[in-house]
Amino acid sequence: MVNYREYDPELWAAVDREAERQGQNIELIASENIVSKGVQMAQGSVLTNKYAEGYPGKRYYGGTQFVDQVELLAINRAKELFGADYVNVQPHSGSQANAAVYAALLEHGDHVLGMDLNAGGHLTHGSPVNFSGKMYNFHAYGLDDQELIDYDEIERLAEMYQPKLIVAGASAYSRFIDFPRLRAIADRVGAYLMIDMAHIAGLVAAGVHPSPIPYADVVTTTTHKTLRGPRGGMILAREELAKKLNSAIFPGTQGGPLEHVIAAKAVAFYEALQPSFKIYGQQIVANAKAMVEVFQASELVRVISHGTDNHLFNLDVTPTGLTGKEAQILLDSVMITTNKEAIPNEPRSPFITSGIRIGTPAITTRGFKEQDARKVADLILKAFANHEDEAVLADIRVQVLELTSQFPLDQIEHAL
Ligand code: PLP
Repeated sequence: MVNYREYDPELWAAVDREAERQGQNIELIASENIVSKGVQMAQGSVLTNKYAEGYPGKRYYGGTQFVDQVELLAINRAKELFGADYVNVQPHSGSQANAAVYAALLEHGDHVLGMDLNAGGHLTHGSPVNFSGKMYNFHAYGLDDQELIDYDEIERLAEMYQPKLIVAGASAYSRFIDFPRLRAIADRVGAYLMIDMAHIAGLVAAGVHPSPIPYADVVTTTTHKTLRGPRGGMILAREELAKKLNSAIFPGTQGGPLEHVIAAKAVAFYEALQPSFKIYGQQIVANAKAMVEVFQASELVRVISHGTDNHLFNLDVTPTGLTGKEAQILLDSVMITTNKEAIPNEPRSPFITSGIRIGTPAITTRGFKEQDARKVADLILKAFANHEDEAVLADIRVQVLELTSQFPLDQIEHAL
């Protein structure tokens, strides 16, 4: 039996160091999480060997009877979890899911509304550097003077451009999204409504965030953020769009599905259907709110959008004298992982920015409760206040290690 670590030590050394980093650091990237061993096992299974172009019962290859069972389990669990009529679990990623929906519903050059990247939208919502902005005529909406989604602007733009599709959902927006209001705007101009719930899917599944399913024509998501599955995407919709959406994924934009990843999605949906997933969802939000309270009491940072309803929030770090990029690098140096983020009316380039984004899914999975989340916020403020004092930063590193050693990764109790 080959010892793969000895056979390819260079690779496994890097993997082991990454495992150690994940164990020691405080992970606050809002789109990341820590999956269960069950999800990892499914993704590392023999299903990776199988080609299965097509859909269950209608494949272009032989020997698909068992992967059909796997894919149907994933589909049926997702339908139950979100109360959707139609589910496609084949998108390789959130971006692929969005590309397929656009391919199904739009012609090149069609007018579409999407949230500005700088306001918290995603690249695939019409950014000029992304295929979405290059192929379709996207018009961007943003935040109002309260730093909330500017629904009046969406309405104005919808009346002006008569878009075929309105896209909503965000990568960095901390408040609930008003799905009924978006539905009403879409109906007024006869547009499709697509909600990209990639970030909040786990919160929707846990019942701690309003569901877009009753309001949207199509919902897209990733499966690896708050939903805590393998890296991947998914499309949910009303049954009448099934044929169009299925053919937009295969053969439209993808080839063979990743059945090992689909199996891991099925595991994640099973976990999300358990009662303890609701507690996990509630704790994610409680942890985010606990951190926000600490930051709102400080003069060193400003919480964008005046708080959070979900798993994340953005901080304007301008008062610290640091840019977003410098804040991210500083926090990395004390083993706290975040990412730089644009603030509303950002004066700096996207590579520098004036803010950072903080999310609580990974620390919540790890077992952090409100008092731990408050401690993390205190450590961040301490690092900001002492960013040139190497002795204080060294002490923060010790405190981070003390905290993370209380929550070993191999002892996580996933929702089972
Ligand atoms: N949609 C939103 C709102 C996202 O935040 C992301 C990822 O960050 C995506 C789509 C794209 O997902 P992926 O990275 O799987 O392509």
